Amino acid sequence: MSDHLALHAAAKTGAPVVCLYVLDETTGRAPGGAARWWLAQSLRALGTEIAERGGSLVLRRGPAARVIPEVVRESGARAVYWNGIAQAPHQSVERALESALAKLGADSQNCPGDLLVPPSAIRNKDGRGLRVFTPFWRRVLSLGDPPKPLPAPKALRPAPGIDGDRLESWKLEPAKPDWAGGLRKAWSPGEAAARSRLRHFLKRTARAYAGDRDRPDREGTSRLSPHLRFGEFSPRQVWHAARFAAAEDPALRPGIEKFLSELGWREFCRHLLHDHPNLATENLQTNFDGFPWTRDDKAIAAWQRGRTGYPIVDAGLRELWHTGVMHNRVRMVVASFLVKHLLIDWREGEAWFWDTLVDADPASNPANWQWVAGCGADAAPYFRVFNPVLQGDKFDPDGAYVRRWVPELKNLPAKLIHQPWQATPIELASADITLGKSYPQPIIDHARGRERALAAYAKIRRG
Ligand code: FAD
Repeated sequence: MSDHLALHAAAKTGAPVVCLYVLDETTGRAPGGAARWWLAQSLRALGTEIAERGGSLVLRRGPAARVIPEVVRESGARAVYWNGIAQAPHQSVERALESALAKLGADSQNCPGDLLVPPSAIRNKDGRGLRVFTPFWRRVLSLGDPPKPLPAPKALRPAPGIDGDRLESWKLEPAKPDWAGGLRKAWSPGEAAARSRLRHFLKRTARAYAGDRDRPDREGTSRLSPHLRFGEFSPRQVWHAARFAAAEDPALRPGIEKFLSELGWREFCRHLLHDHPNLATENLQTNFDGFPWTRDDKAIAAWQRGRTGYPIVDAGLRELWHTGVMHNRVRMVVASFLVKHLLIDWREGEAWFWDTLVDADPASNPANWQWVAGCGADAAPYFRVFNPVLQGDKFDPDGAYVRRWVPELKNLPAKLIHQPWQATPIELASADITLGKSYPQPIIDHARGRERALAAYAKIRRG
């Protein structure tokens, strides 16, 4: 509720406010399973916070351009305030809404939403958005601090007599089977939890962030992504809190600088989606349109279930299934494995992440998949093929992350944990492992996977 520009502006009028959330499944991409679960918890938390201030959250379902004018007619509202989303499908709804509201004689106020800087502020000489991160981020920084966040309204005057749906009737949460136990254990959605997570990060984790952010075996990052994804608090709040912490304690500066640049990647992905609305379906680099992807359902299933035989890959995919997130370094490793070792189209992996991540984001997910695949803006070159064993040795050196998520390997010593196939029969027996039974053999040999990926890439390079 804090730094919510639309709510702030509406409350300031002193008139009764209808706090309306519209579940519009016809605009943009329908959320996946894990994100729907998060949305339900987040709406519950929001409803409570609004009620504590005297208001009530009204839930309606349907196309926003139809539902919002209906509520205006029912309530006699004279103005509608919303936080704009700088993405094509939302902008076209916003235009339709503005004209429907004008016909009803109601004012429209489109408040800038969840960006640090609007896409219009970062253009090259031809008026196009930037496709390379470093100059993009330099331009954002050159604009100085974004506006200070606004406080949450202290009180809301309720607008009586406006009915809404019951949240349960939307069936956002899984019932039979209820697969959300791991998500409930891992997360507390809502603004209050987001605030305490940010406080914890700035107090405990930020100091070592620059070094620890790549270590999945440590608590090295903020874990703020789903809170940001669902607008539970804004990037401006994160920005100012982080800057304030760094001003108070100079030892935090390097960590905070790196952290803010990661927030910059979030911004970069959003600007990219603004300029390329088909980011989730079309290669940004069109020479990838002829890439010889393979179709291999068995390999995809092994990857999704975390049974590829590469421990760091399997640990990541199991972490994802249980908690709805995966560490960023491991996201890169598992994505690279799918696209390069298995030669499977990045869109298949993107779709799996879309369904299983609680932070599944229409901009960050496809932009990062394209980055890993090599077909995106400012992408990692396709010929850079991560070696999952070396990645494991480097970023999970004692194997603690693998031991947590792939418990059948927990008795292996650190030197073997990322490559159990190198263990002798005696080492395997003493760790209680039967390769091919209790844990799979690698589904593809690394050197062969790498060669095959490079050969496929050579085909599109030749054109
Ligand atoms: P921190 O390291 O604490 O970073 C702070 C914030 O910066 C994050 O909360 C996030 O909002 C932003 N951020 C950090 N890294 C990135 C990045 N590479 N791209 C965009 N924003 C970033 N992030 C999502 O929020 N949603 C997604 O759907 C998503 N899909 C991804 C898919 C792949 C294949 C890869 C490689 C990365 C993806 N990311 C996605 C980016 C990144 O992995 C997560 O943002 C990060 O792991 C979240 O953890 P954190 O909040 O602890 O991050």
